[in-house]
Amino acid sequence: MHSTRSVAAAVLLGTFLVTGAAAQPPTGQQPGAPATTLDVLHARLDRAADSVLPKVVTWRRDLHAHPELGNQEVRTSAFLAEQLRTLGYEVRTGVATTGVVAVLRGGKPGPVVALRADMDALPVTEETGLAFASKERGQYNGREVGVMHACGHDFHMSILLGAADVLARMRDGLAGTVKIVFQPAEEGVPGEPGGAEVMVREGVLENPKVDAMFGLHVGITPLEAGSITFRPKGLMAAGDTYRIVVKGRQTHGAMPWAGVDPIVVAAQIVLGLQTVVSRQIDLTTAPAVVTVGTIEGGSRHNIVPDEVRMSGTIRTFDPEMRKEILSRVKRTAENIASAAGATAELTLDEGYPVTWNDPALTERMTPSLRRVATGTFNASVQPTTTSEDFSYYGQKVPALYFFLGVAPKGADPATWAANHSPRFSPDEAALITGVRALASLAVDYLAGVGK
Ligand SMILES: [Zn+2]
Ligand SMILES: [Zn+2]
Repeated sequence: MHSTRSVAAAVLLGTFLVTGAAAQPPTGQQPGAPATTLDVLHARLDRAADSVLPKVVTWRRDLHAHPELGNQEVRTSAFLAEQLRTLGYEVRTGVATTGVVAVLRGGKPGPVVALRADMDALPVTEETGLAFASKERGQYNGREVGVMHACGHDFHMSILLGAADVLARMRDGLAGTVKIVFQPAEEGVPGEPGGAEVMVREGVLENPKVDAMFGLHVGITPLEAGSITFRPKGLMAAGDTYRIVVKGRQTHGAMPWAGVDPIVVAAQIVLGLQTVVSRQIDLTTAPAVVTVGTIEGGSRHNIVPDEVRMSGTIRTFDPEMRKEILSRVKRTAENIASAAGATAELTLDEGYPVTWNDPALTERMTPSLRRVATGTFNASVQPTTTSEDFSYYGQKVPALYFFLGVAPKGADPATWAANHSPRFSPDEAALITGVRALASLAVDYLAGVGK
């Protein structure tokens, strides 16, 4: 499935897509043949991207040196808002605590396309040795910690700001509206609401109403800088946590018939839960995992305890399958317990939903991403078991999320420090690809490419 494609060939492919079947195929186009409207737009976009690149690098290093934890992105927010105002955007701040939403109305009417980047850093003490490495400290879970953009959200922000700059320069040629979304707290903040879920609740997808949304993540896989990978449907997992309390009736371990034994019931539930994925779900649709991670109960060898507490995690890649598994886990636990005269109470902590790439939108925008990728290009990668709160936007509007490779050329995938490592150091050579990718998605979508 991997394929690499030169930029020149990809530009010609873009020509073919817009002019349709009646036009010359890409290989048949003569040098000097009249350029299509889309060619002109792409050429303008690429020139603009080249000229904003030095600013993007400066922004990235500044943001990298000043990371802030989730829901505390105060400096970051002010910095982004100021840049967006300078670029001529209508800017709204304070969305979901520190979020920034900015709107650019194009020269002609048309749909609304949204581009999103996350703003938060992690409680990690940086060990990259970079000249602009973070020296920031913060409070996390009541402890003092180092703070670092160890997930690459500094890349995401500077890339999106670069794309916003490119789009502002192309404003008169845009048929529709661009909405730039800077979102706090993607990594989650213990005990605090935040991130995409709150942004959606606070109306980020309304006024003007968003028709399609795009976002990217750097790294995740150790592909070389400029690579672009994604897949239709579930790209990243939903991760849900469940807790089960099995209640029996305490009695003497020598006379179990005088009570109800929750330990035996819990053991049966563990085995029963393993049949949800292996016997009850169509695994040809997507993979899934049900894990029991903890079991606690009992105090003495000769006492049958009153209750047993269990917890575990469920990972799924398909929203329908997720619902199905959650209901079957509950049903299995409750009915096994009831068969023994015990009860099982299940509580679910819903994690981020499946990061769902709308299949039609993904197919439609694939040529746009293929045009700008410089390393590996793969439109049908395997899903990953990490989660991402971009998924909340994808629940409401057609969305497409993709991975941007940031490993330095020649890096060993086995030893390269990945996201969340204190040595995570993405290659800035990927910045230009990121800017061109987000700007192209917006420009091509508004131009109606592939529609
Ligand atoms: Zn992360
Ligand atoms: Zn991240």
